[in-house]
Amino acid sequence: MSRFAARRLFTVVSHRATARSRVLPRRTPVFFRPVCTSQGLLSLTRYDETTDWQKKLTPEQYVVTREKGTEEPFSGIYLNHSEVGMYHCVCCDSPIFSSEAKYDSGTGWPAFKEAHGTWERDESHTSIIRRPDNSLGTAGTEVLCKTCDAHLGHVFEDGPDPTGQRFCINSVALTFKPRENVKPDLGKEH
Ligand SMILES: [Zn+2]
Repeated sequence: MSRFAARRLFTVVSHRATARSRVLPRRTPVFFRPVCTSQGLLSLTRYDETTDWQKKLTPEQYVVTREKGTEEPFSGIYLNHSEVGMYHCVCCDSPIFSSEAKYDSGTGWPAFKEAHGTWERDESHTSIIRRPDNSLGTAGTEVLCKTCDAHLGHVFEDGPDPTGQRFCINSVALTFKPRENVKPDLGKEH
């Protein structure tokens, strides 16, 4: 009996839904939503505001990337790292710096001349954004991941030629992938 009633109720609701869609024929379909608004994001990583970074990251990674911390100078694992490959955002895996842009600045943090994807001075195809930051005591520029807003470090104008840029980046904000693993691996999906 109750099953029958439920079935009747469902029928009524369906009818009502049909009637409503007739009244509003141009309603946007539910599935018509952008999955990701970031341009040029090739990674399969999904980031949204509900991501629990504290669960996803180590305490050190969390403090640096999500709370704008800075690792101790000369403490980072990538300071003297010279392998060929790509440094990715530790939070969302976006490629940030190529090993080819890395150099020794002598400051105690990994340094890069330019972000991966930089074309002359154009950074629109990189995975970073710059933001004014006065927390260092002087007017500075913070470097963040364009995809997930992770704090990576700062950029200064005292770098080597030809860019004159010094990206001073925390090791814990990065994860390194040697070049062999960066190549598209067609067998990886299986
Ligand atoms: Zn990121």
